[in-house]
Amino acid sequence: MKNIKYYACPSKVKEALSLLLNKRYKAMALAGGTLVSKTLPDSVETYLDLKNLPIKDIRLQGGNLVIGAGATFDEIDRSRLCRTWAGGSIAAAAAACSTQLIRNMATIGGNIARPHSFNIFPVVLLALDAKVRLQTGKGAKLIDFQDLYTSGLGLRPGLDSLITEAIIPAKTRNWKCEFIKLARTASSWESYITLFFSAEKKGKSVTQARAAVGALSPRPFRAPEAEKAMLSGEGAAAAAAFAAELEAARAGEYRCAAASNLLKRFMEGKI
Ligand SMILES: Cc1cc2nc3c(=O)[nH]c(=O)nc-3n(C[C@H](O)[C@H](O)[C@H](O)COP(=O)(O)OP(=O)(O)OC[C@H]3O[C@@H](n4cnc5c(N)ncnc54)[C@H](O)[C@@H]3O)c2cc1C
Repeated sequence: MKNIKYYACPSKVKEALSLLLNKRYKAMALAGGTLVSKTLPDSVETYLDLKNLPIKDIRLQGGNLVIGAGATFDEIDRSRLCRTWAGGSIAAAAAACSTQLIRNMATIGGNIARPHSFNIFPVVLLALDAKVRLQTGKGAKLIDFQDLYTSGLGLRPGLDSLITEAIIPAKTRNWKCEFIKLARTASSWESYITLFFSAEKKGKSVTQARAAVGALSPRPFRAPEAEKAMLSGEGAAAAAAFAAELEAARAGEYRCAAASNLLKRFMEGKI
């Protein structure tokens, strides 16, 4: 922080964005500050505090669940909507963030802005087919969450654009879901593996299935072969396919065995 010359705390998104895009200020956005305050690049001269922006609401819109980028983990955990959506798995994921102090400050926007192996919400949003709304110099942009970390996006959120909300589609409201952070202790940020399983069941058929994996690489990924096997409703087949995909991702013996057993448990217990 030694090179900070200016502090700005705008109350409008447009105002924040114009500060960010004004090269004179060399600004960087900070939300909770839990991740970036220790690692602020020396080139940054303006601390652009997002806390007064109206981007904190958690609401229903057109049947979708919209979570403002400025919502903290604690607010997400305590939100009635998040506690009921997808069986409460979104609130459960927020509650799995390491400590109450961090949950009070850390926001979902800051959690997804940069890929990071141990961050919780990238795995959740990937498995729920979420979209992300960004405010850029060329106006608002709605993208699939899975495209946020691709070089084709051509944006660096926090430096040249702002994430304003995460949108979780209506179709997932009644999906069966489970978030799992397999870690040494509940208060660890690091995990051996982070998982989010989701499935839709109509009658006796599984019509949608997702198995998202975090902690093995900065960007979370889905396991397509496991997902195909989940559609058959066979827990053992899904577990075997998942183990093979994790092995290919060099997860190691313990993670492969544990994660595939957890998928089997999900299939047998939740679907
Ligand atoms: C002790 C400790 C424990 C932690 N435990 C966990 C854990 O268990 N699980 C977990 O997932 N994370 C954990 N974290 C990591 C961190 O707290 C989270 O990633 C948090 O969500 C970051 O949010 P923030 O609001 O504090 O972001 P900040 O630190 O303010 O910003 C992080 C990055 O996001 C950018 N940014 C922030 N908001 C926006 C926005 N709206 N638009 C565009 N860019 C934006 C910033 O420019 C910066 O690059 C932990 C961190 C610490 C220090």
